[in-house]
Amino acid sequence: MFSSALNIAPANALVSEQYHYAYKQQLKVLENYTAGLRRLNVADSIKRLLYPFLPKRLQKEESFPVLFYLSYGSAEATGSSGFVINDLLNPYRIDQYKYGMLAAHEAFHAVVSIAFQQNLKPNIDYNTAEFSLLYFLEIISEEGIADLIDKPLLLQKRSPLYKEVSAMVANDETLAVASIKKLDSLLSHAYNNALALQPYTSFSALANAFGKNGGHIPGRFMGNVIKKGGMLSANLERVENPITFIEAYNKTASLSPKKYPVF
Ligand SMILES: [Zn+2]
Repeated sequence: MFSSALNIAPANALVSEQYHYAYKQQLKVLENYTAGLRRLNVADSIKRLLYPFLPKRLQKEESFPVLFYLSYGSAEATGSSGFVINDLLNPYRIDQYKYGMLAAHEAFHAVVSIAFQQNLKPNIDYNTAEFSLLYFLEIISEEGIADLIDKPLLLQKRSPLYKEVSAMVANDETLAVASIKKLDSLLSHAYNNALALQPYTSFSALANAFGKNGGHIPGRFMGNVIKKGGMLSANLERVENPITFIEAYNKTASLSPKKYPVF
């Protein structure tokens, strides 16, 4: 069921062309899938997967994001500031396995990013290196929790993305440990001298130098350490605060026999 039509496009087709080809091949099933999203109430499935990772105050109908399903052009999804945009083919493949799971990860971003924004001081200057740093830490902490929603399920043997996701996380610990040490060094320098942030005034400069995959590294590793250390539910109370995520990581990592680095 998941061996989608991706491989039947002409062999010399570009990846994006193959993806469009797969859409064309599966147009009928995608139409049925789209109709089913309402009928089967995908929002309910998303809430079941999402709410264990949100505090009660954010489990409200008015906080729940608007969901868009459309032809995105590549196997992607994104969520922020109250909305989730899904590429149609990608969640179709994943929803056959766990209905609403991809959107649940993105819905977490959509809900928590608004809560984060609401906690910022009024009139904050978004163009400063300090804000970029805070935002980078926020994305690390969001990915750290959001990846606990879908990755453990995608890493089960019967998952349609078992191979892809297993390969993706294979070096998580090594990469995250290196990234945490580097980021900690930046934070220490910046604490003593604000100029230390000058080479990294944008989010992308920070994300490229101190993380990978848009903050999934080191976030996913940190979230797993927190969960294994039994501190996840305590952290969820202030889930939109990246500093509590780092503190929870520090506590659990320092108790771990593995001697993981802390901030
Ligand atoms: Zn994410």
